[in-house]
Amino acid sequence: MTRVPRHLFVPEVLRHKAYLDAPLPIGFGQTISQPYTVALMTEALELRGGEKILEVGTGSGYQTAILAELSQRVFSIERIPELARRARKLLDRLGYGWVLIRVGDGSRGWPEEAPFDRILVTAYAPRIPPALLDQLAVGGKIVLPIGREGEQRLLRITRLGDSIRQEDLGPCKFVKLLGEEGWQGGR
Ligand code: SAH
Repeated sequence: MTRVPRHLFVPEVLRHKAYLDAPLPIGFGQTISQPYTVALMTEALELRGGEKILEVGTGSGYQTAILAELSQRVFSIERIPELARRARKLLDRLGYGWVLIRVGDGSRGWPEEAPFDRILVTAYAPRIPPALLDQLAVGGKIVLPIGREGEQRLLRITRLGDSIRQEDLGPCKFVKLLGEEGWQGGR
């Protein structure tokens, strides 16, 4: 995390706050996650090196850059084209040009690139999107917030052959995952 300049991922007028442990607005009603949350989620992925990772919710691209420090195979999906465009530009400038970013509904995953060893979702859904479970390799893990407004839990799901293990990593607060397998039409 010390290698990634967070001040470049926040709007210029908020740069003086970039190294506070707080989420900050990035436009379009979205936020860059708090550094503590980024650290917690990244640690929860238990990366050993070499994992193929899908991130849902590129946003500013900050978490994407952290993942790119830990793996050479990073795929990220963002539904808001302008955020994806900005993240792309900044990640290129910082030397993470090989990270793949796509504009679309990440609640449906990225089927052409599946299976993934790790999936990280940075927006909360009412339930685990089935497409993401389908696209998870055996032995793979998903870290994601699940719940409703004001009442979300960070979960780690591990796929063990035919069954899944679910661990509760504690309370959290995210923006909504909007999409087919997330919140539809804001519901
Ligand atoms: N990791 C980002 C978090 C941004 S907030 C950061 O730290 O900057 C969550 C992001 O998820 C927002 O940019 C939002 O537009 C995006 N998002 C919400 N629903 C989505 C969906 N179905 N598919 C892809 N991205 C989605």
